Amino acid sequence: MTLELHQVTKKYGELTVLRKIDLIVRPGELLAIVGPSGSGKTTLLQIMGTLDKPTGGTVSLAGQEVTSMPDERLAEIRARHIGFVFQQFFLNPMLSAVDNVATGLLYTGMPRPERRERAAKALAQVGMSHRTKHRPGQLSGGECQRVAIARAVVGRPDVVLADEPTGNLDSQSGAAVAGLLRELNESGTTVVVITHDDRLAATMPRMVRIEDGEIIHDNQAPTGAVRTGRIQDEPIAARIEGGEIIHDGQPLAGSPRPRPSQSEPIVREDRPFAGMSHAAQTREEPASCDPAAINAIAPSPSPKGVIP
Ligand code: ADP
Ligand code: MG
Repeated sequence: MTLELHQVTKKYGELTVLRKIDLIVRPGELLAIVGPSGSGKTTLLQIMGTLDKPTGGTVSLAGQEVTSMPDERLAEIRARHIGFVFQQFFLNPMLSAVDNVATGLLYTGMPRPERRERAAKALAQVGMSHRTKHRPGQLSGGECQRVAIARAVVGRPDVVLADEPTGNLDSQSGAAVAGLLRELNESGTTVVVITHDDRLAATMPRMVRIEDGEIIHDNQAPTGAVRTGRIQDEPIAARIEGGEIIHDGQPLAGSPRPRPSQSEPIVREDRPFAGMSHAAQTREEPASCDPAAINAIAPSPSPKGVIP
């Protein structure tokens, strides 16, 4: 699924946070977004993920302009095609790890036992089989983020958008989480990661730098003009690029050929993502996943009230 932003502007009253952003993210890309605090990265990611709307310009997913779609439709698109990972995890403290992950499948209408089964598999993929019954307060930050990643990918989205996913983690857990995202990308998922970590960004094939609401650097901007016309009559899945839009047999329309990575588990289920080192899986960290502890570690701006 191609993500396209054309001349996207975002204003809060007099404050202009994004200025005429043109950005195309193609299927299968692994993209880092970097820039100083307050430069507009989170706003940009939320607009890319349809959690927020621009005040000017257009956003298209798979060729379909979404800027003016009703909220219910956007919620459906998000549920089926986009996975979110946030710095502060946003796990439900009352639910076990497996039930937190299973919430990522609520939209499917799948019976609970099946959702939990899928969730358990997704937890295995992030090396968390040994913690399925733990609640967030009983898990370390790194473990919480692995649960959050499992929740993001359990529905096999086309795109994963991660906002500072390593921002609350120690360096070892952060490296493990970065490895998971890379592995996910290698399996065919488009991954966009906001990061403050220049070393992490430097390992990504594409890096976009934002300052003061503008893209000041993009080391791999696709060539060719950004499409400007609205494509109104085609259902989203009609704009398939190399068979990229499929979703558990429930594409928005049509029935594209499954790509190999989605007819199989994201990774083999008998092992975690390759990015997860054994040390990171087994290391005991202090439990730091409950919101109070996290706030104490890293106070950070509110997530704009959006929980996926
Ligand atoms: P970054 O993620 O790069 O730190 P943000 O996208 O969160 O930056 O914010 C960019 C700017 O927009 C900041 O100056 C921030 O204060 C402002 N901003 C973000 N959300 C809102 C909002 N809901 N209302 C007003 N200003 C906002
Ligand atoms: Mg931010």
